[in-house]
Amino acid sequence: MKNSYLSWGRYPNIPQKAEIIYWPNNVISKINAVIENNDTTLAYGLGRSYGDSCLANSNNILNMQNMDRIISFDKQSGIIVAQSGISIEQISKISIPNGWFVPVSPGTKYVTLGGAVANDVHGKNHHNAGTFGCHVNSFKIYRSKEGILECSENLHPELFKATIGGLGLTGIILQVEFRLKKINSSRIQVNNIKFNNIDEFFELSNLHDNNHEYTVSWIDCLSQGKNLGRGIYSYADHLDDNFLEFSNSKKINFPFEIPFSLVNSFTLKSFNSFYYNSQFKSKNSKITDYESFLYPLDKILNWNRMYGKKGFEQFQCVIPKTNGKQVLKDILKTITKCNNGSFLSVLKQTGDIVSPGILSFPIPGYSLALDFPQKSNSNDVLFRKLDQIVHEAGGRLYPAKDAHVSKLNFQSSYPNWHKVENMRDKTLMSKFWERVA
Ligand SMILES: Cc1cc2nc3c(=O)[nH]c(=O)nc-3n(C[C@H](O)[C@H](O)[C@H](O)COP(=O)(O)OP(=O)(O)OC[C@H]3O[C@@H](n4cnc5c(N)ncnc54)[C@H](O)[C@@H]3O)c2cc1C
Repeated sequence: MKNSYLSWGRYPNIPQKAEIIYWPNNVISKINAVIENNDTTLAYGLGRSYGDSCLANSNNILNMQNMDRIISFDKQSGIIVAQSGISIEQISKISIPNGWFVPVSPGTKYVTLGGAVANDVHGKNHHNAGTFGCHVNSFKIYRSKEGILECSENLHPELFKATIGGLGLTGIILQVEFRLKKINSSRIQVNNIKFNNIDEFFELSNLHDNNHEYTVSWIDCLSQGKNLGRGIYSYADHLDDNFLEFSNSKKINFPFEIPFSLVNSFTLKSFNSFYYNSQFKSKNSKITDYESFLYPLDKILNWNRMYGKKGFEQFQCVIPKTNGKQVLKDILKTITKCNNGSFLSVLKQTGDIVSPGILSFPIPGYSLALDFPQKSNSNDVLFRKLDQIVHEAGGRLYPAKDAHVSKLNFQSSYPNWHKVENMRDKTLMSKFWERVA
């Protein structure tokens, strides 16, 4: 048993012991052992959730990464059935040369199918594709009382809806059937446009979002005054040139954890200013492989180690469209006032395609994600202020990224949380759920 699994933010730093799962039968025997010991556990994919939602309350996880087989792949219809531990990277290796692409992809390809369903992940195409759960036909799940169940919109529909975005609490997902999307190229035409402030972001987003498959913006969250929220807006589309290649560019590895964080006020200011100014022209256009555009952070393996021993926290919220501009300004002003900042601040419009998932995070509006080095006192103060702004605006935080939200805040922003609690398999419990439910 390995004893060193953490979440991606490495905060809270609570190492997890893992039982390795290779086959569905292993799930059954491990869950039986959990019942015998009157204990709980939790499925763990590739640990790309930042906070404590992928940490078991018991600190004993079931590592699903080796249950990674493709069961069937129909090259005509693009319907694929695969075990839950397979990663988006592994799926892409097989689907792309056949002209099929994952329908929704988060900002990293190192997530498992089980993790994509359990957090109902969204990507740069949320405005026109919705979340991952919108593309799931069915899945098989193991529940300690009922055994293996097949779920879809028609079969056990309540369990289907509770499991998509259900944070791994409703059972162990064994396999998933979902629909890939057709592509005529794995290359992507990317257009980057600089904007001077948050008002200009809204103009660009209104102008381009509906006409392009992928859109995303990076924001310099340290800029102030008339440049508050300046950044770079990107829109992108697959080409139509029949170039269908799996990308696997060379990766750099951040080799070990350092005792201190490389992210401090000096490096933050320099990076944000450098990144904004590294694009000389106000607009540029380029053709790139899908990996560089969709998964830029995957170029540095284990980049989370640069935050040092204490780790970091991501604050990701979604706020409704109404008053969105003012709320975003308030958030950014609060961050600069608290003398805090983030390397990676990602802003994107979220669309109105409704997910089947009861606890799915996105609502129509704007999603903002920011990374903060872990500093207990200053993060506590800042997050309390940001939580209040988001809450008053009718927005909410993303459980996949969270390590701090209060019980009250979570329960009022996800009023249907108790439906998932009612469907929870009582052998499964995460640190997050223990904290908020
Ligand atoms: C660089 C980076 C960029 C990201 N960008 C985005 C983004 O753009 N959009 C977005 O939505 N997310 C994003 N994320 C978050 C990430 O996509 C999610 O946290 C995802 O769920 C992680 O998948 P995982 O396989 O690592 O699962 P884990 O983090 O290990 O687990 C996540 C949840 O899934 C459950 N789970 C895993 N496997 C199973 C299973 N077989 N059965 C039942 N439950 C299971 C776990 O219990 C847990 O609740 C990003 C993360 C990183 C590191």
